[in-house]
Order: sequence, then C-alpha cells, then structure tokens
Amino acid sequence: MVKIGKYSVKEWWQRFRAWQRTPAKVPERNDCEQHVCLNCGESYEGAYCPRCGQTAKTKRLTLRNALSNMLDVWGLGSRSMPRALWHLLFRPGYMIADYLRGHRQPYFPPFKMLFILTATALILSHYLPNDEGNKEVPYENVSVTVTDTDADADTNITESPQQQLTNKEINKTHEVASVLFGTWDVLKEKIPSAPAVLLLGWQVLFTFSTSIFFRRSPRMGRVTLTEQFYAQVLIAGQMQFLTILYMLSVFTGRELPNEIVAVFALIDYKQLYGYGWWGTLWRSALTYALTIALIFFLLVIVISIIYHNV
Ligand SMILES: [Zn+2]
Repeated sequence: MVKIGKYSVKEWWQRFRAWQRTPAKVPERNDCEQHVCLNCGESYEGAYCPRCGQTAKTKRLTLRNALSNMLDVWGLGSRSMPRALWHLLFRPGYMIADYLRGHRQPYFPPFKMLFILTATALILSHYLPNDEGNKEVPYENVSVTVTDTDADADTNITESPQQQLTNKEINKTHEVASVLFGTWDVLKEKIPSAPAVLLLGWQVLFTFSTSIFFRRSPRMGRVTLTEQFYAQVLIAGQMQFLTILYMLSVFTGRELPNEIVAVFALIDYKQLYGYGWWGTLWRSALTYALTIALIFFLLVIVISIIYHNV
C-alpha cells in the first residue's frame, strides 16, 4: 500500500471527498466577554453589536488594524476572496450549492469577485507576451484585403452579376462585422468593466438554458432563475480565476483552452446538481448547444437591425 504521511492514497481521497461535501467552517462563539459598542454605546456580549452591527473587533486605529482594513478591501478579511477561490477550485459545485442554500458569510460577494478577476485577467492578457500562433489579425488588415478583391472584381469583365452581388454581400458583412468589433474595441477602451458586463450577458443566456435542462435536480430540487444566475456568476468567476492561473503558468496572454473549460464545467454541474456523470454530460451538452443557438439568434437580430439602418 502506497502511503503519503499518515494515510494511504485511498484514505486521502476519502478525506478529500468528505471535505468537499462539508460547508465552510464557521468560527466558534466566544461571547462571554462584555463589549461596549464604540459606535452607538450599546453594551453587549458577542462578536457584533446587536443595535448597529459594528464588529466588537473595532479598536483605536493602529498601524496593524489599518493594514487589516486595507486587506479587507481586497477581500482578504472576513468575506474572504482566497477562501472563495480555493473552494471554487477544489469543491466548486458543492460550494455553489452551499452559497445558494444560504452560506454567504464565508465567501467573497460573487459579482465583485467576477469584476476583480475579469479586470485582472484583462491586465494579464495585455502585459504578458502573446505568442504568434494565437495573435489576432487586426481588423484593418482584413478590410484592406476585401477592398483589394473588390477592385479586382471591377476590372474583371467576365464576372457574372451574381458573383458581384456575392462580393458586395461579403463586403457588407465585413462592414457590419467591423462596426460590431469597432464598437467592442471602443467599449473595451472606454469602459474597463465592459468585458465583465459582456460576460454577465453570456451568463444570462446560460442561466436560461441551464434552468431548462437542470430543473428539479437530485441535489438542489427546484432552483429559481435568480439562484441559477448567481450559480453562473460564480462559475464565470471560477473560469476567470482558471484563466489567470493558466496565463501565469504558460506565461502568455492566452485564453483558457476549451478542454479545461469543459472539464471544470462538468465538475461544477455534477457537484451542484447531483446527477451522475452521464446525466451531467448530456445535460451540459444540451445546455451549451442551446446557449450557442441563442447567441446565433441574437447576432442575427443585431446584424439585421444594423443592415436595416445602413
Ligand atoms: Zn453599536
């Protein structure tokens, strides 16, 4: 039997599984001590003032608690971001289930976390070296090549009118695409939170499809649309965190490979809803297919509106 420290591999796995299924530890109460609230003057026992909610830990400002206040801004205090990220990495679906059932205090707020992680990933992808194979072609180059073919088409007399029409249509599609991408680039520069907002839009679509295919699950029973949306926001945060870890480990500003996204999404849904592997797999596949279909449908609507106005 292979042993790592005190336990065999099997025992380690069993202990890990038990830890995964257990909600985050809540600190013990030590409320025998009497406090006087520095904010409202109330005398009380416990960790927080029952009248105004200020913590009993509030003391005179010293360098030490000034530092810990600053750490609070970055989610290193009571609603801990490192803890939320750790749990999203190693027990994601169970953590999300806990969160939906009301274990909110141990974890950093999901929306704030998503915005911070998205901004971090964006900064990293900007400053880390980008390898050639993944480099996107700047949009101006694409339109230049299109104009060239168009000029050729004009000198070519034998070209059928139908073909000219197709060329025109291709040109028009490129125009629409450059308007879309151009707007996106401007948005990204002007509003730093634009990528996070787009990510939230993508989560809304996922919320819609997961709520269809994962309704009345063994672990969660019925989940409201809002709860489903929170689950998606936590999953999006997890993916952004994985992207950051990935970019740091390969030291390039690359996107997370689809295989990693798929594996983690499967683990998330399996742990959250409690279906078996097969049940999770086909439900996830249908969820993904429906979401892609919805995006395609929305794109068609957007492009037809732009076409109509051009
Ligand atoms: Zn008080």
